[in-house]
Amino acid sequence: MDTLQHFVSGELAALREKGVFRRPRVLETEQKATVVIDGHEVITLSSNNYLGLTVHPKLREAAIQAIEKYGVGSGSVRTIAGTMALHRELEEKLARFKHSEAALTFQSGYTTNLGVISALMQPTTDLIISDELNHASIIDGIRLNRTPRKVYPHKDMAGLRRVLVESQDISGKVMIVTDGVFSMDGDIAPLPEIVALAEEYGAFVMVDDAHASGVLGNGRGSTVHFGLEGRVALQVGTLSKGIGALGGYVACSQDVKDFLLQRARPVLFSTSHPPSVVATCIAAIDLLENDTSLVERLWENAHFFKRGLEQLGFNTGKSETPITPVIVGEGALAMQFSDRLFEEGVFAQGIVFPTVPADKCRVRTIVTALHTNEELTRALAVFEKVGKELHII
Ligand code: PMP
Repeated sequence: MDTLQHFVSGELAALREKGVFRRPRVLETEQKATVVIDGHEVITLSSNNYLGLTVHPKLREAAIQAIEKYGVGSGSVRTIAGTMALHRELEEKLARFKHSEAALTFQSGYTTNLGVISALMQPTTDLIISDELNHASIIDGIRLNRTPRKVYPHKDMAGLRRVLVESQDISGKVMIVTDGVFSMDGDIAPLPEIVALAEEYGAFVMVDDAHASGVLGNGRGSTVHFGLEGRVALQVGTLSKGIGALGGYVACSQDVKDFLLQRARPVLFSTSHPPSVVATCIAAIDLLENDTSLVERLWENAHFFKRGLEQLGFNTGKSETPITPVIVGEGALAMQFSDRLFEEGVFAQGIVFPTVPADKCRVRTIVTALHTNEELTRALAVFEKVGKELHII
C-alpha cells in the first residue's frame, strides 16, 4: 500500500524536476491594470477582468448597499430558502441581456457547466460532441454523469460533420458543445457553422461564453455577436470575468430553467450567491446595457497590444480576441519567460502542459479596458527586452 505522503512528495518532485512547479503569486492590491504582486509593482496581463469591473465604483456601491440591506449571506441553497428577490432580478436581467427567454445563475462558471451538462444529458441514450480544446469544466461536466462523448478536432467543421454522420442512430439527444472564445488561444468558435450543422442533423448547441461575455456582441456574447438568437439552446457564461464578480449562469428557455431548478446538482446542494455578489452583477448588467464604451476601449487595447507583439515578431497563434498567447514551445522556457517578464515589471502567466500541448507552452496575455496606452507601450518594451534576451525573437 502507498502512503499519502509518499505519493504527494513523488508528484511534487516530478513537477519540480520539469521546472513547472509553481506557488500562486499573491495579489496585494485591488485587481486593476498596475498591481502589487509578491511585493513587486507590475503591469498585469493575467487577469480576466476584461472591462475593469472588479474595481468599478458603481459595482462597489451596489455591493455595499446590498450588504446593508440584506446582510452577507443567502443562508440556503436555491431550492430551499436561498432564492432571494435579488437572484430573480439578476436572472431576468441576464435573460434580457443575452436575448434569451430565461436564465439561471450558479455559484461559478465551473459549477454551471457541471450542473447543466450532468442534469440535461442521459448516459444511457445521449451523446455529447465536444471540441478538443473545450475548457476543463465542460470536460468535467461530461465526466460527471458519464454520457458518451465524441471529440472533434479544434474548430474542424468537416470533422464535426463526420461525427454527426456516424452518430445518426443515437436514440436520445445529441449536444454539440463548444467554448465561444477559447481560453488558451483566444480564437473564436465558428458558431454559425456549428449551429447550421446541429440543425441539419437534429442536434442542439451549448456554447460556453466565459471569455466572450463582456467581449463579443457588445458584451452580450458570441450568440448575439453572430446574430444566432433563438438557435443556441444553452448559452453558458461566467460572472467572474467580464462581469467582474463571481458566478455563472445559463441563458436558456423557461422550460430548461425550470427543469434545471429541479435537477442541477449545484443548484440543489450548494448555497446560492450572497446578496452583495448578486447586486454587483445586477449593477454590471445595468452598466453594460446602457454604455458600450468599456467594451470599445477593451477592443482598442486588444488591437494595439496584439499588433505590438506581432510587430516584435512573437508567435501569437490564432488569437482574435483580447486573449493573446505568446507561444514559445517548451514548458521550462515559458516559465522562465514569465519569471523574467515579472522581474522587469510585467505579469504574464506561463501556461504549460497539460493545460496546453507540451510543444506549445506559452505566456498568456489578456489586456483589459483599464490598461492605458502608456502601460501597454511599457509592457511591449519589456516583452521586447526579455524576448531578445531569451532568443524568443
Ligand atoms: N469556462 C471557461 C471557458 C473558462 O475559461 C472558465 C474560467 N477559467 C470557466 C468556464 C469557469 O468559470 P469560473 O471561473 O466562473 O468558474
